[in-house]
Amino acid sequence: MYRRTKLILTLGPSLDDRDTLVDMVKQGANVFRINFSHGTYADHYKRVQLVKEVSTELGVVTGILADLQGPKIRIAQFEKSEVILYKGQDFFIETALDSKSPGTSSGVFSDYAALVSDVTVGSVILLRDGSIALEVISINGSRVNCRVLKGGLLRDNAGLNLQGGGISASAISQKDMDDARYSIELGVDFVALSFVKSDQDIRTIRSFYEQHDYPITIVSKIERIEALENLDAIVQVSDAVMVARGDLGVEVGYADLPSIQKNIIKTAKKYAKPVIVATQILESMCTSPVPTRAEVSDVANAILDGADTLMLSSESAIGDFPREALEVLNESSLSAEKYMINENKIEQVAFPDSSLDVSIAYSAIYLSQNVPISAIVALTESGETAFWMSRSYTNVPIIALTPDARSQRRLLLFKGVHPYTFDYFSKSSSELYSAVIDFVRDRFSVKVGSYILLTRGQQIGIPGKTNSLRLIEVL
Ligand code: PGA
Ligand code: MN
Repeated sequence: MYRRTKLILTLGPSLDDRDTLVDMVKQGANVFRINFSHGTYADHYKRVQLVKEVSTELGVVTGILADLQGPKIRIAQFEKSEVILYKGQDFFIETALDSKSPGTSSGVFSDYAALVSDVTVGSVILLRDGSIALEVISINGSRVNCRVLKGGLLRDNAGLNLQGGGISASAISQKDMDDARYSIELGVDFVALSFVKSDQDIRTIRSFYEQHDYPITIVSKIERIEALENLDAIVQVSDAVMVARGDLGVEVGYADLPSIQKNIIKTAKKYAKPVIVATQILESMCTSPVPTRAEVSDVANAILDGADTLMLSSESAIGDFPREALEVLNESSLSAEKYMINENKIEQVAFPDSSLDVSIAYSAIYLSQNVPISAIVALTESGETAFWMSRSYTNVPIIALTPDARSQRRLLLFKGVHPYTFDYFSKSSSELYSAVIDFVRDRFSVKVGSYILLTRGQQIGIPGKTNSLRLIEVL
């Protein structure tokens, strides 16, 4: 069996060790994430170079995803880097720059000036991923006065969310624009936009990359209530979506998270868009070499719901057991996929449009479910045909052969597709068939007497024009 589910690993100190990274690439990590919320450009540069070096050395293709911070609101720092807040005490958040001084147990600074207009008396401010809750009791100029509802340890730069949503900051800051520019320099393949609020946010980021003539796959991170309200519009203009359960869970509360996850996946399927499920996938493995039963169950259920991709965050970036975590994802994904085959859980995805290449892609999937086929091979320049194949279910590997390394890497995020670079321009038709069969035979198990299904465009050199489908018998 070949794993259909794709895996993203967040880079960080735990993967800075070359040997560890080598193991991760060997074990089948597909995409690595750099997180612009943490670290310097020098850190990101070093990490991306290491991934590229190791991948080239091993002859394995991997992709890079740049995650833009978006309007993540944070408090500033404390005199002694942390304080303890007690239930019932007063605590303020000060937003005036000229009164910026290190925080104490009475209050702390935040550079998010609009906080005073985003909250009203009675609003609940959540700090440190919701582990601390403050109720707003008055707003006094640039200062929000609160009473502590839920106390605990509060450290420098903790994240700030509003219960029930309502942060008005736009999704794209100057820092995000600078980081987007840098992502082009780094040569990344995917960009994720955090705290997306509306489809306009995606349009803005798309036009930025278009102006720089840089093709990129845009992932919308669904992690605030406003995004849920505009979900259909956001999904339609995105190339993929991420269920960003960390911040989303803080805003909506834990109880509703599973049903919201299912709903986001369902909406993504409606528009044939790929979905990444992220955050606390194997959280306990930050400090333990084995996962909890609940975690592996969550992994399996995300796959059964229809996720294309799972992402590790702290587990791979700062955890003690990144190798073990990847191994658990590998094994658990394969097991969930086997269950899907046994249960015949074939997802019938709506036909998104009636163009010829999409129809050919879907016909290939239909055939693979009904004829003894060992592999589907798509000769594809842009990767489109293989992308459409990945939107429907087949347990046959979809092998995308493309002359374009960029198209190859783009396909790393989509389930079931195995992308390779392959120069088919130089070959005549008869040479091509035997070259393809040899290529597939070397890498996948192919049964004599079965078929390899090949799709291609008759007019080679024109992307998006797949118009032929052929069954080649394996002799
Ligand atoms: P983050 O996004 O890791 O950048 O915070 C994911 C999430 O919030 O779940
Ligand atoms: Mn987040």
